[in-house]
Order: sequence, then structure tokens, then C-alpha cells
Amino acid sequence: MKKLAFIKRSNEKHWVGDGFHVRGIFSYNEPTARHLSPFLLMDYAEPTTFPPTEDRLGVGEHPHRGFETVTIVHEGEVEHRDSSGGGGKIAKGDVQWMTAASGLVHEEFHGTEYAKKGGPFEMIQLWVNLPKKDKMAKPGYQGLTAASIPEVALEGDAGTVRVIAGEYRDRRGPARTFTPMNVWDVRLEKGAKLDLNLRDGWTTALFVLDGKVKADGTTETVGRADLAVFERTGDRLAIEALESTKLLFLNGEPIDEPIAGYGPFVMNTPDEIRQAILDFQNGKMGQLT
Ligand code: MN
Repeated sequence: MKKLAFIKRSNEKHWVGDGFHVRGIFSYNEPTARHLSPFLLMDYAEPTTFPPTEDRLGVGEHPHRGFETVTIVHEGEVEHRDSSGGGGKIAKGDVQWMTAASGLVHEEFHGTEYAKKGGPFEMIQLWVNLPKKDKMAKPGYQGLTAASIPEVALEGDAGTVRVIAGEYRDRRGPARTFTPMNVWDVRLEKGAKLDLNLRDGWTTALFVLDGKVKADGTTETVGRADLAVFERTGDRLAIEALESTKLLFLNGEPIDEPIAGYGPFVMNTPDEIRQAILDFQNGKMGQLT
């Protein structure tokens, strides 16, 4: 049985541009980072209702290098464009898996149609590290529609597991990843139990968007906006929903390589960061047309 290592609670909130008021759940520059590899960073835009507007709310052109950004839209709509030619609209239930790798610039805004009407907005952005050998790979873009994400129903209407990446039971998620991982969007009814067989040695964490859960063998409860991180040792994890719960389950093979990060660039050495800044300044990450 995997043991609970720690629960991380974050009260820090900041605006990303003028469209995303996010809680910083974890980041590669914190002492806890080594427990979360290959996951580098997570921002949570908690449920917020935006009034109708003709303005473009969001964040304009900015670069990334060395990793992937994964945007999971729970409510509302996000529009994106990048310099490698990727782009599109991601709506409720959709996921955007963007590989920045060698570098690109992009913009992220509320969807035009959504903005005109306004309404609820809720989103997670997760950064996934790339191994050293792939950090300078060609950028890529995967727009994963809700329809392409398999949803496994748990017995007795206990809930659902949407498989974004990796697999649950015999269902595989649509995301192509550079290192093996499971990323699941999980719903549990009150009283439901999820009994998982996992890889020994992999990073395992769950983030509660709503509700409350408890892992077997612990007394601590994991509530709204809490991140529970488990020991890598062990291959079983059982969790019980104490309330109707929505959570993001993160599980992956750690990338055991040094991290040097600066804002939107995450590489292995300070020299590579200096190069990333120069390359961006010299327009080598492209531009939006
Ligand atoms: Mn970005």
C-alpha cells in the first residue's frame, strides 16, 4: 500500500494575464518538486463566473521551451494559437496537450463565443517535463476532444474515470506522451471506493477540485484544492470519497534529471536557460502571424 507522503495546500492566487485567476498548486521551483516529477507545475483556475464581454481576456504572446503544457477545461472555453501552427478551441471536457519542446510562442484567451455570453469558467493547466533527450524535439499540438477521451464507468454507479493519458483497466487515453504516465479526470460518488494497482516507483498524486477523499491507512482527509502526494514505494492505493468528489489523478515515471527553470523555460542547466532566453529574444521560437 502506498503511504501518504504529504498534503500540499496552497493559498497563493495570481492572475495569468487578465483571464485566468489561478491558485498555484505546485511548481518546479519549490522544495516539493522532486516528489512530483515528471509533473512540473500546476495552476488551478477555480470556478469563477465571468460576465459577458467583447474584450479578449487571457494572456498574449509568450514563449515556452523544454516541456509540455496540458490544459484541461472543465467549464468555459479557451482559444489558443501557437507559432508551430497549432491552435484551436478547447471547450468543456476537452484537453489541449501542447508540446513546447525546442520552443514556441503562443497565446491563450477565453473563447470568443464563451466570452460574449459569459458564464462559469474552471480550468487546470499542468506542465509536464520532457526528458533531456526530447527537450529540443519539434513542437507539437494535440487537441483532445471530450469525445476522444474514454470514460470508464465504475461499478454500481460509483463514478467515472476519464482517461486523458495512460490507461485505466483496458482503456487507453488519447494523449501521446514522451514518458509513461497516467492522467485521469475522476468523479466519485459519496462513499465510492477506488482501488488501484499502480507501478511501484512512480510518482502518485491526486488533486481535489471538489469534494473530499481519504486514502486507506490514513486519517487525514484531502479536501477542495488540496494536493495529496504519495510515496513512490508500493503498488496499491485505495481511496474513498467522503463526499461527491471531482479529482485529477497524476501518476508517472519520474524523470531523474536536473532541473533548471526560469519562468516559461524549464531545462537541465543554467546555460540552457541562458540560451533559451537568447533564442526567444532573437525570434528563434517563432512568432504568431
Ligand atoms: Mn503558456
